[in-house]
Amino acid sequence: MNEVCGDYVVINPYVWLSKACVRFNTKIKEIYVVSGDLGESDGVRIVTHGMATTHTHLGLYPIRNTVVSGLNLDEWVRNFVWGWERFLRENPEVSYYASLLAIRELLSSGVTIFADMHVNEDMVYEAVLESGIKADLSTPIMGLGVYENYEEALEENLRLLKIVSEPRVKVRLGPCTPRLLSPAAFREVVELARERGLGIHTHLAEVFEDLAWLKSKYSMTLRDFIKFVGLMEVNAIIAHAVWAEEAIDLLLASNFIISHAPRSNVLLGDGRAPIKSYLKNQSNVTIGIDVAPTYDIREDLRAYTLLHYEGEGIPDLQEAFRLTTTTAYVSMGFGKGELVEGEEADLVVWSVKDLLPGNPVAQIVWGNSFVEEVYVSGVLVFSNGELTLTRKPSREIREVLNNYLSEFLSRQSSK
Ligand SMILES: [Zn+2]
Repeated sequence: MNEVCGDYVVINPYVWLSKACVRFNTKIKEIYVVSGDLGESDGVRIVTHGMATTHTHLGLYPIRNTVVSGLNLDEWVRNFVWGWERFLRENPEVSYYASLLAIRELLSSGVTIFADMHVNEDMVYEAVLESGIKADLSTPIMGLGVYENYEEALEENLRLLKIVSEPRVKVRLGPCTPRLLSPAAFREVVELARERGLGIHTHLAEVFEDLAWLKSKYSMTLRDFIKFVGLMEVNAIIAHAVWAEEAIDLLLASNFIISHAPRSNVLLGDGRAPIKSYLKNQSNVTIGIDVAPTYDIREDLRAYTLLHYEGEGIPDLQEAFRLTTTTAYVSMGFGKGELVEGEEADLVVWSVKDLLPGNPVAQIVWGNSFVEEVYVSGVLVFSNGELTLTRKPSREIREVLNNYLSEFLSRQSSK
C-alpha cells in the first residue's frame, strides 16, 4: 500500500482537507486527517487529483514554438504542419520520441490523461505504454493533406483498435474537420463509431472559415452539419467550438465534450469561444492544450481565467481546474475526477513555495507550484522532473529528436 500526505489534500476543486493523507494501491483506499506533524518538506505540500487535457497533437510537440510565428491557422498549417506531418509519416519513430517528451511535460504540470489525434498514433500508444500515462487516441481522418484519401486514414484509425489492448487507453475515431472531410464521408465515420460503440474526436468551428465553407460548398449551417453526420448519437470531443454558438442547444447534450484551447485560439487568431454561454447551458467544457509553446496545462488554466473574465466581480479561480478534473474525467468516462475512496489513484503531489493559507487550488494554478510526483492508477510515473518508467532518460530522447529535427530543417531549406 502506498501513501502520500500533504498540508492540503484537495478532494475536488472546491473541497479540501488540511493535513491529511491518501492511502492507495491501484485505487484510493482511504483518506484521513492527521493530527501530528507531517515531517520535513520544502514548501507547502498539496495532493490533488490528476488533470486531463481533451485535445492534443503530441506529434507536433517538436514544432510547438511555430504557433507564435504570427500566422493565422491556415497559414500556420500550410507553412509548418503539412511538411512536418509528411516527415512524420516517413519516420514514424519520431512520433514516439516526440510523444515521450510531450508526456514528460504534461506530467510535470499534473496531467494524467490526454486525448490525442494525430498520424502514427500507434507510436503515440507505444509512448503511452512505456510512460504509464492514460490516453484517448484517434487518427485524423481526412481526404486531403498527408493521406492519399480518407479511407487510408480510416484504416489507420481502425488498425489502432486492434493494437490497443491496455485498459487505461481508449480509442476513438477522428474525422478531422469538415474542411478536410466531406459531410458524406464524415457521416460514414460517425456511423461506424456508433455501430462499434466508439467515441468521436473532431475539430468543429475552429475558425469562421469553417462555417463559410459549409455554407458555400454544401449550403449547410453548422447545426445542419451536426445533425446530418449524426454527432448527437455518439460521445464526441469537439475541439474548439469557437464559432459554434448557433448550435449551443445541441452542444449542451451530455454526449458532447467541448475542448477549449485558450492559448491556441488566441495565438492562431481563431477568435474567442463563447465559453461562459456554454457553461451557462451546462455543457461539458474542458481544456485542450492543442498545440502551444509549452504543454504545461497551468498556462492554459491561467489563460482561461484571463480570457473569460468579463470585467465584473471576482473570477472563479478554481473553475478552470474543475474543467480539467471532474468535468473532463466524467465526460470522457475515466471516473469521477476527484479524490474519493474507490477511484483509481491518479494523484499529483505538488509543492508550492510561499503559500499563504486559504486556497490551495488557486495556488497550484497561479502560484509558484512544482510537481514532485505523479501516480497513475497507483503507479509512480513521474518523480523529480523525470519519467520513472521509460527506457531512455529524457536527455537522450531530446538528442535523438534534435537529430531528426535538423534533418527535417535541412530538407526544408534545400527545397
Ligand atoms: Zn487541433
